Amino acid sequence: MARVFNWQLGREMSYWYPESRPKKQFAAVFDINKCIACQTCTLACKTTWTSGKGQEYMLWNNVETKPYGYYPLAWDVKLLQELGAQTWDGGPYPGQTLFESARAGERVLGWRPQEIDYAHPNMGEDDCAGRVDKGCSLAIPHMNWFFYMARICNHCTYPACLASCPRGSIYKRPEDGIVLVDQGRCRGYQECVKACPYKKVFFNPLTGTSEKCIACFPKMEQGLVPQCFVNCIGKIRMAGYISKPEDARPENPIDYLVHIRKIAKPLFPQFGLEPNVYYIPPIHAPVSFSHMLFGPGVEHAIKEYRDAPNDPDLAGLLGLFGSSETVVAKWKRQGDWVSGYGEDGAEVVKVPLREPVHVRAGLDPAHGVVRTNCP
Ligand code: SF4
Ligand code: SF4
Repeated sequence: MARVFNWQLGREMSYWYPESRPKKQFAAVFDINKCIACQTCTLACKTTWTSGKGQEYMLWNNVETKPYGYYPLAWDVKLLQELGAQTWDGGPYPGQTLFESARAGERVLGWRPQEIDYAHPNMGEDDCAGRVDKGCSLAIPHMNWFFYMARICNHCTYPACLASCPRGSIYKRPEDGIVLVDQGRCRGYQECVKACPYKKVFFNPLTGTSEKCIACFPKMEQGLVPQCFVNCIGKIRMAGYISKPEDARPENPIDYLVHIRKIAKPLFPQFGLEPNVYYIPPIHAPVSFSHMLFGPGVEHAIKEYRDAPNDPDLAGLLGLFGSSETVVAKWKRQGDWVSGYGEDGAEVVKVPLREPVHVRAGLDPAHGVVRTNCP
């Protein structure tokens, strides 16, 4: 085992291979507060990449309802139980990562789901309403809050899938940090399926190989965002590249949200993979739950996000989410307008801080019709 530095944990940790960061690291920010669980992203991915034989059950992108939704079933609670209780109040993470708590003879602490665990995504996840008798309140088994969480592969800096593969079939591209399975080398041992804590590698029983999200690399190579990003109805997503904390640039939207404002947080950073999809935590869920999911600092993130109406920079950047198919490499606010620029420096999108509201006269005399205003 090598010693590597994981900035999300604020300390060194053990990993199967020495630290070797890519030239650029693919990354994304998802604003949980905007997701409406329409599943357009799920279908955009499904129709692009997993409509073939043996892929029927696969959702490289899925959206689940937290706290009771899972795909596959119990993917996170099962692993949290295996790992055991850990505490982390800020500062360097004092607990164990999945690499450090691996069983003897194994490289990562993990578990492999059964076929049935993938069988019923989204079934019954939102059933927390229901009838309550007069004078009673709804407490168990469901609490009266939930939120939607979209999930793709995190293209981790220290991928557990890659570390666990006995064939060396999984690799991290040095040019952009995207993690891929070499279909020619893979022999279907499924160690990666067992090791990925986020359960984002899938076994194809027809080809006998493992498959996973490829971050739509043919699009990213052309400076375009992946399919699940451009099709997102809620405009919750921003794709780009993240720097190391010490190299953070405020004009890079991902750096700004993750490193500078510290509003976007990694999912289960305590696992130790340094995942590269960051979430703006839900503002209507208990902080203790978000703390378990996203680590320390969620209180700060929620406070800043709530204050966005008084913060034109943050509000403006949030308005750029989902506004362009081109990857926004830089952003800048000028007065009441926010611009996004591509990697070549050219402006690709410009949005106003506030959408104009046009109120039309109820009666259109030119056409003699009555109109309804929909601001
Ligand atoms: S999320 Fe899972 S599949 Fe994706 S890079 Fe990380 S360990 Fe591998
Ligand atoms: S398309 Fe966007 S809003 Fe709809 S479920 Fe996916 S992430 Fe959420």
